[in-house]
Amino acid sequence: MARDYLKKATLTAMSDAGETHDIVREILAKIEAGGDAVALEYAAKFDRYEGSILMSEAEIEAACALVPERLKADIRFAHDNVRRFAETQKSTLTDVELEIVPGFVAGQKAIPVDAAGCYVPGGRYSHIASAIMTVTTAKVAGCRHITAASPPRPGVGVAPAIVYAAHICGADKIMAMGGVQGVAAMTYGLFGLPPANILVGPGNQFVAEAKRILFGKVGIDMIAGPTDSLILADKSADAHIVATDLVSQAEHGYNSPVWLVTDDRALAEKVMEMVPELIEDLPELNRENAFAAWRDYAEVILCADREEMAVCSDDYAPEHLTVQAEDLDWWLERLTCYGSLFLGEETTVSYGDKATGTNHVLPTSGAASYTGGLSVHKYMKIVTWQRSTREASKGVAEATARISRLEGMEGHARAADVRLAKYFPDETFD
Ligand code: NAD
Repeated sequence: MARDYLKKATLTAMSDAGETHDIVREILAKIEAGGDAVALEYAAKFDRYEGSILMSEAEIEAACALVPERLKADIRFAHDNVRRFAETQKSTLTDVELEIVPGFVAGQKAIPVDAAGCYVPGGRYSHIASAIMTVTTAKVAGCRHITAASPPRPGVGVAPAIVYAAHICGADKIMAMGGVQGVAAMTYGLFGLPPANILVGPGNQFVAEAKRILFGKVGIDMIAGPTDSLILADKSADAHIVATDLVSQAEHGYNSPVWLVTDDRALAEKVMEMVPELIEDLPELNRENAFAAWRDYAEVILCADREEMAVCSDDYAPEHLTVQAEDLDWWLERLTCYGSLFLGEETTVSYGDKATGTNHVLPTSGAASYTGGLSVHKYMKIVTWQRSTREASKGVAEATARISRLEGMEGHARAADVRLAKYFPDETFD
């Protein structure tokens, strides 16, 4: 059976990609040419903010004092989980050595990048968890300079809870600047910041596009733009929980797709009836976001069986993938394209988004077909080295010279020849 779309999206993440690209390219070019002053102009234009950009210690302390103790404890709980998960990831990166031929050793080591620029979104919601996810992981990786940048609220600055989270997780600098100008400031080293070696963190389409354009000049974690989420559900699923989970992710923004893939028509119809009711019940801003996301971007897809559901899901390569179906082990084994997988009704994307330790900065718009999410590894350079005894280098030098000559690379060949002549003066080589 072909996939049957009970609800089809009218827009996709790519719908306004060209327009976004043009806007972002122009802003970046102007900031690169004009520096701090132009970045400040954009902060005033987009965020109506004219306060201080790099927070002083006193400003950080004052912001932290505004955060309720219960919330501080929750942030520390989430930080502890993210840190322990990142430390476990780091332990899988071990330096290696291999004796290529006796006396000739090649090795690999992992070196953290020096300066990390962590973007913490803050336009619609205060993404406290993004500060925890990006800064903690950079710290565990061993980056020496960590900047956290987040959009300021007019007359207020960065949300106090974001400041608290970035501070306790290990940010060296906290910058009240968001959007393209925030990302550009970290890349170009504006306001006295060390230019970032890597930019990480999620953001809206402008932030994601800025990172994409700047890639090359600076490293990036991945394209982590508007959130997308897919739920795989069979007849065993609870329609109310499926509908609630879809709405929970649609509230991210007007352009956050949610997709339901099922082999049970009755379940699909029940969920489609419940979602608008649940959206109606949300607070105003969340309701507007979720309503538009459901109307324009959401899809409900009916498949013949679980194998077809799995193929469909891998085609979408969603950022968040939830399975509410029987035989979770089969799904864990079978599925291959997702940023983070949530198996069973007992867990949900919200847990991973906020507190369970797995990173919530994840690939969007199909990028999960070629990359996973943010991890300690993204901040690490896997570099190689080699050394040799003179005796061991003989065979390597001969092979190198012959291969180089065949390629027409005489200079390369002579780099080998000169060593053969020096170390083995009594021998001749062809
Ligand atoms: P944001 O911080 O990403 O963007 C706010 C900034 O956008 C502002 O500072 C402003 O400078 C800029 N901006 C707004 N309108 C603009 C325009 N017309 N032209 C140029 N710049 C403009 O916050 P947000 O908007 O709330 O978006 C957060 C995003 O992060 C959401 O799309 C959400 O889905 C996504 N997210 C993704 C992940 C992930 O891992 N992929 C995780 C969490 C959040």
